[in-house]
Formats: sequence, structure tokens, C-alpha cells
Amino acid sequence: MNLNELTAHELLDLIKEKKTSTAEVSQAVVKKIQATDGRIHAFVRTPAIPVSANSGAYSIPIAIKDNLCIAGEEVTCCSQILKGFRPPYDATVINKLKASGVVPLGTTNMDEFAFGSSTENSCYGPTRNPWNLDCVPGGSSGGSAAAVAAHEAIWALGSDTGGSIRQPAAFCGVVGVKPTYGRVSRYGLIAFASSLDQIGPITKDVTDAALLLKIIAGYDEMDSTSANVAVPDYLQALKNDVQGLKIGIPKEFFVDGMDAEVKESMSAVIAVLEKKGAKFIEMSLPHTEYSVATYYIVATAEASSNLARYDGVQYGIRRHPSQARRTPMIDMFEETRDQGFGREAKRRIMLGTYCLSSGYYDAYYLRGQKVRTLIKQDFDQAFKEIDAIIAPTSPTTAFRLGEKTNDPLSMYLSDIYTISANLSGIPAISLPCGFSKTGMPIGLQVMTKPFAEETMFRVAYTYEQNTEWHKRKVNL
Ligand code: GLN
Repeated sequence: MNLNELTAHELLDLIKEKKTSTAEVSQAVVKKIQATDGRIHAFVRTPAIPVSANSGAYSIPIAIKDNLCIAGEEVTCCSQILKGFRPPYDATVINKLKASGVVPLGTTNMDEFAFGSSTENSCYGPTRNPWNLDCVPGGSSGGSAAAVAAHEAIWALGSDTGGSIRQPAAFCGVVGVKPTYGRVSRYGLIAFASSLDQIGPITKDVTDAALLLKIIAGYDEMDSTSANVAVPDYLQALKNDVQGLKIGIPKEFFVDGMDAEVKESMSAVIAVLEKKGAKFIEMSLPHTEYSVATYYIVATAEASSNLARYDGVQYGIRRHPSQARRTPMIDMFEETRDQGFGREAKRRIMLGTYCLSSGYYDAYYLRGQKVRTLIKQDFDQAFKEIDAIIAPTSPTTAFRLGEKTNDPLSMYLSDIYTISANLSGIPAISLPCGFSKTGMPIGLQVMTKPFAEETMFRVAYTYEQNTEWHKRKVNL
């Protein structure tokens, strides 16, 4: 038995029984990274094994996405522009991990500033999907998901603005949670779109996801959008029973563009949960067709504003043109941003700036915000009648590297099932629910109303306990 192949809760049991130690687990993980990561490239930084055995209650090493601040450690969002930036403080989630004994061990690859669905937009080069090295791992938290799937990490943190935890989890056959907006503090998460971003767990099973969310959730006065709502013990919610729960199937999600195999796997999911007592109801989220357009207005507008701070003055790199063009300062801003940002980041900055510019603000940004409200109201209405909604996480399984890099619109459209949870602030989980004929994982998404993560975990856990998908292991 390889320690790195176990879940955190299994390892914690072994540690309690003195059958292994944090140091041994860390060694197993580092050994696996050394053996395998040359092929996967899930990590962009792999620090040495922590020397002292950690004493907290949950002393299991964790991989961290490259957009979370750890005091004194380089963090770049996989962008040239932030190269060499070392934040002076820990993100709140990092503080919480450390206080619980969870040891940050390695930084994972991502799309630059979390712009993408494939981890191909990283200044360090792409990550590969452990199930098929010719395929993408999804994105933007592709490094975290691939690391967990390849057993190069026991568990990991990612961030999700439009699906960046759930979609890579689905593509890599692991579990990913986007918590309710405000559930987890964003302090120390480098901002993409502040009204959508949430940090969440990427794990091997639902139990670990519940455990990790319990560790990182909670009110934080350093984040004015964090919610002052008590954190329940999510482990208590893990009941193998959905008796009496009403689960909605949104008809707008089951349209053209979904792979036949993904669709079939949804029918199988319904059968499993019906057997455990759930009642399924076909329902409608009438504004779904506007969600991709709305997201790409709101998210790019916020991104263009958040990225305005990278100008060579306070963070990362500074570049000067070889020949003076305007004033020295403007030249420096321009050259730094031109060299520092990659193609997708520039595309988003331009889209967002356009949406916010005077003359277009009303037509794009303001209208986008209004449609966002309509999308949220669809969910509010639905959750008056039902307890949860299920859907696929992605319309397809992992696509091939390079397949969508020259077609940003088709890349954007692959977010169709994940972005409405961000626009409406609700929690959502992705967990494995099958494999395609070519051996690629399929993800099931479960959504609930805000702060109803317990119901979300209960549905996910029941499905997981009555199926074997999560036990399938990558052979690397
Ligand atoms: N794929 C989406 C995008 O490109 C979502 C990214 C994310 O959640 N960070 O914006």
C-alpha cells in the first residue's frame, strides 16, 4: 500500500493508530512527485519536505494553487508579470490550514490569473491529464486536480470563479467543491473577479472535501464579503441516505452539445439516488441561456479592474522599452504590461475594459448585472420547492491539448454548467460518476441553496457510497 494513494481521513486514522506519521506521508508524496510530475507538470514549485512533524489535528500535507498567498513564498498566478513576488502575509485559508496542522507542500499550476478551462494558459506551460497525457486536466485549477488524481497530493486547494475547481475535478476524476460565496475568506487569494471568486477543496473523496471545507470555512474580518454564518460540522452531514429529498433536473441543461456518454451517466445517477429515496423533479432555470454571456461580461469587467494594479510599480516584474515612446513612466507601465501578461489575460483586460467604458457601461456591464439577478432569481425560486439540483459538471470529458486554444469562444462555452453557481453564489460539488469508453472521467454536479452545503454533501456522499467510481485509480 502506498501512503500517497490514501485519502486524508484514512491517513489521519493511521496516524492516530501510530501506523504512520506526517513525515512519512510527506515523504511518500514528495517521492511520487519526483517520479511522476515530469510527465504531468501539476506543480510549479515543490519545496523541500517539511522537517518538523506537524502537531495539529489534521497534519496531512496539501498542494496549493499558485494564487494563494503564503508569507515569504513566491506566488505568481502562473503569470510572468508576478514573477518574483513574495507576499508579506498568509492568506486566511493558509492560516487556518497551518493552525490545523495541514502542511502546504508544493504549489500547483493554473491558467494565468485563473483565466481558462484547460491550464494551457500558464506561463510555465500546460499540465497534462493523468488519465490521458494527451488531454487537458481542465482549468483553471488543473494543477491541483491533476496532482490529486495522480496521487502527487493527498488533497489540494483551488479557486473557482466560473468552474475552476469543479471542471478540473470532473476532468481528472476527483472531488471538487465551490462553497457558497462568502463561506470561505478570500483574504490572500489573488483576485480574478471578486464577486465570483471562492476558494475550495479538491480531494479524492467526499469525506475529505467535507473535512477540508470545515477547516477553511468561516467568517473573517479581513474579507468584508465573508459571511458571519456559523460553520456546521460537515462530517456530520455525511449520511448514506437521501430519503425524502427533492432533487431538480433543470431541463435547460440537457440540450444539444452534451456528449451522449455524459447524458447516459446522468440517467444512471438518477437511478442510484432514486433507489436511496430521492424524488426527482424536472424543473426550469429559464435564464440559463444567458449565463455564459453574462459571466464573460461580469468576470472580465472585474478582472480588468483587479489587474490594473500590475503596472511594474508594486508587484513582480518591471520592464522598460528599448526606445522611449512617451513619458518614462507611461513607457514603463506599457512595456511591463505588454511583456508581463499572456494572450488570454490581454484579451480579458480588453473585453472587461470595453464593457466598463463610458458609453458601453449601460449596454454591457449594467445589463449584465441585471441578467445576473434574473439568473439568481431562477435559483431562489427553484429552491423554494426542491432541496438540490443535479447536472453534469461539463458537457464533455477532457478534451485534447491544443484542441481549443485557438477558439476562445468554444473554450468559454465549455463552462456552461458551472458558471451559474458562481453568478448566483450557491454552493456546488463535482464528483466522479462514470468513465467514457476512452477511459476519461465524467463529473456529476450537485448544487444547493446558499449555505446548504450539508445537503450538498449528503447527496454527494450517498451517491459516492453506492457507486465505485471514486475507487478507480490512475495507473502512472
Ligand atoms: N473557465 C472559466 C474562465 O475562464 C472559469 C475560470 C475560473 O473559475 N477561474 O473564466
